[in-house]
Amino acid sequence: MPTFQGNTTSKLPEAPTSIFAVMSHLAQKEKAINLSQGYPDFPTSPELIELVSKAMREGFNQYAPMPGILPLREVIAEKIESLYGTAYHPESEITVTAGATQAIFTIITAMVQEGDEVIIFAPAYDCYEPSIRLNGGKAIEIELRPPSYGIPWDQLASAIGEKTRMIIINTPHNPTGTVLSRNEMIQLEKLVRDTDITILSDEVYEHIIFDGLEHQSVARFPGLAERSFLVASFGKTFHNTGWKMGYCAGPELLMKEFRNVHQFNVFSVNHPIQKALSGYMKNPENYLSLPDFFQEKRDKFLRAIQGSGFKFTPSKGTYFQLLNYEDISDEQDLELAKKWTRELKLASIPVSVFYNQKTDHKVLRFCFAKSEETLMRGAAILNEIESF
Ligand code: GLN
Repeated sequence: MPTFQGNTTSKLPEAPTSIFAVMSHLAQKEKAINLSQGYPDFPTSPELIELVSKAMREGFNQYAPMPGILPLREVIAEKIESLYGTAYHPESEITVTAGATQAIFTIITAMVQEGDEVIIFAPAYDCYEPSIRLNGGKAIEIELRPPSYGIPWDQLASAIGEKTRMIIINTPHNPTGTVLSRNEMIQLEKLVRDTDITILSDEVYEHIIFDGLEHQSVARFPGLAERSFLVASFGKTFHNTGWKMGYCAGPELLMKEFRNVHQFNVFSVNHPIQKALSGYMKNPENYLSLPDFFQEKRDKFLRAIQGSGFKFTPSKGTYFQLLNYEDISDEQDLELAKKWTRELKLASIPVSVFYNQKTDHKVLRFCFAKSEETLMRGAAILNEIESF
């Protein structure tokens, strides 16, 4: 038996294991269809894999430059400017990261000081609050309510105060599948004008948006862009979440502080993949084709469960669909998600875990970034549920 009795006082007391780890583990154990954790069950592009292998063969196997290789930062800058209008300088305003999670942690570490408040909207992606807490800040949570999950603007206005250091937004939004409109972004721009508030804009699903809607990046709004970190993830865009690659863009003033932390956080990230992405991203079709690709999956999934007992509003973006089960069961969502994984062999994510108060609206999240076969098997199970 180990005898070490050192001080292991937790810096994150009460933090449960991430729901994604919990549900995927359970799905695997139960051999259930896994529509819980958000990742595709189809392959990434063979062309991209070949480009990574080529970069490895050609010797790009040592540390990349700290902010990322310049050719990749250049294509990222071109992409953002052509889609959203803001020109970020590749030398000083873009940094390649080990996925969006690292970018988010680095931003919060660089910006949030002891006692600062950070406004987040719940249901909130699970890494925001712990990252704020670890840095001595306090998350001020504003609840978004179904079915619209719209931002309550009056509540946001009154939550902003002297201590507000940052506001975190996420569009398209995980887990609700809602998107912020142009008018909402303008409203936000007006609210933060004449303040020192920084925005962290989590845009990892920027290319997964449906029904002809346009992604409203902070980079479309000068009054937001000047105070924002824009966070993106290649894993979402190129179907390779396991590569953990992404980037952060922001004005030089902010990026300087970001890099101050990034250099001691990871220093630099995967070199051969950066090399490969710098070539692959030159063809915009590789990301501009995503709305049609995922909308077809959403529509097939929703058509297949049309006659089921679930209520839903079609997701406007992301590869997640919320299903309301209040006509089927009054069980608590976390318990139900686990029960259905064990007994029906279908795994989903309970939405209450993304609220500080564990607010249970009887809603489960299903990931439709899956092959048609997986989706149809999942839909068949959902159709059979009448009451539980
Ligand atoms: N973003 C993914 C999701 O929402 C999961 C990422 C993770 O497992 N941490 O399901």
